[in-house]
Amino acid sequence: MRFYSTKNKSLQANLKEAVLRGLAPDGGLFMPLEIPLLPQNFLKNLKGLSFKEAALEMAKPFLRDDFSLFEIEQLIERAFPFSAPLQSLTDNLHVLELFHGPTLAFKDFGAQFMAALTERFTQKQDQELTVLVATSGDTGSAVAHGFYRKQGVRVVLLYPSGMVSEIQEKQLTTLGANVTALEIEGTFDDCQWLVKQAFNDADLRQKLLLTSANSINIARLLPQSFYYGYAVAQLPDRRQPIVISVPSGNLGNLTGGLLAQRMGIPVSRFVSAMNTNDVFMEYLQTGRLRPRIVRPTLSNAMDVGNPSNFYRILDLFNHDHRDIQKAIYGASFDDEQTRLAIKQVFEHYGYILDPHGAVGFLAMEKFRTEMPANKWQGIVLETAHPAKFKPIVEQSGVPEVPVPYRLAATLNKEKKAIKFSKSFDDFKEWLLNF
Ligand SMILES: *Cc1c(COP(=O)(O)O)cnc(C)c1O
Repeated sequence: MRFYSTKNKSLQANLKEAVLRGLAPDGGLFMPLEIPLLPQNFLKNLKGLSFKEAALEMAKPFLRDDFSLFEIEQLIERAFPFSAPLQSLTDNLHVLELFHGPTLAFKDFGAQFMAALTERFTQKQDQELTVLVATSGDTGSAVAHGFYRKQGVRVVLLYPSGMVSEIQEKQLTTLGANVTALEIEGTFDDCQWLVKQAFNDADLRQKLLLTSANSINIARLLPQSFYYGYAVAQLPDRRQPIVISVPSGNLGNLTGGLLAQRMGIPVSRFVSAMNTNDVFMEYLQTGRLRPRIVRPTLSNAMDVGNPSNFYRILDLFNHDHRDIQKAIYGASFDDEQTRLAIKQVFEHYGYILDPHGAVGFLAMEKFRTEMPANKWQGIVLETAHPAKFKPIVEQSGVPEVPVPYRLAATLNKEKKAIKFSKSFDDFKEWLLNF
């Protein structure tokens, strides 16, 4: 499989180059040159497959030039010791739980797969690999856990000071070993900008072996298509058209879904669920994406003002705004609505949503109201465990959110982070000298 840069289709790379580089040399994002169609008999017999079985079939076309079938199986086995169960709240409303990985958020899927793949590629290299990650909360800890204590790899996390929850911060800053956290005086977009600058800096590129683990890395994107296949595999009944609501920030999760759909997974519509940082909704309405300064919300992993995967979505639809509008319905909600949704879902269904999933739920219900022509089979992606946002969820009217053991253990550890301004020169100097 070859991958091209979204900025220049003739700039291409193989899987290894694309994964280790992260960004294309011209600053574009890598995309698969062709999108493989899944075999008909796989699609017909989807029902009842396990997550790993679905993942294996969906990974194969992207990996088979570089690995044997046995190696791909091993990779899937190692990357995913967890799954994505579907919980049915009613006959036509389901929640796909994407929080059963080590950091209790959906980014574990991408991070674990990328770490497993990267390790395979760097095993034979003698230069240390530096993984740079800008994070709005969940990315960083997921990636750090993926690479934790992996040989020949150091991980540098950049997160916006004061803009992640206490729990997220603990998950980011308590691992130690080959993981270093930098606390940046700025926003998530500033962190992302610093990482992009590092990749564009010829001097750094020459002295260090750099890779990015943001949702821009193609190895993060591919596995984010697998659980869409598995979601459909778990539906008790597939007669009604399927609509999937995706809590959206950088649009990596949604892009994974669109990829799965293009490969043949039968999804009729996608709902892009946003908080008040809703530049993508504005794009859906007007055909213009106007980046904005982010405003903090309860669903902070979706606080993004310039979503990087937008350019991948454009490419998937040949830049046709109409087609994008037809495929994706957008809706946005504020914090008050989010709190109310958490309360209502708990009261109606006895199910506890986190703030991101709550925005997903709201968008799904709005879609249903506005598109009554069909009886939709709705799947809401629940992207984080509610315990990660325990205070918010409890203040919204849920009496008590149980905390899984692996989270409780992290909370008792001590924070270790280095404070930084958003100056690129300082960042660069530190990178070269630590
Ligand atoms: C990252 C994240 C999102 C947004 O996903 P994107 O791929 O950036 O659109 C939503 N919810 C949670 C919990 C996240 O961590």
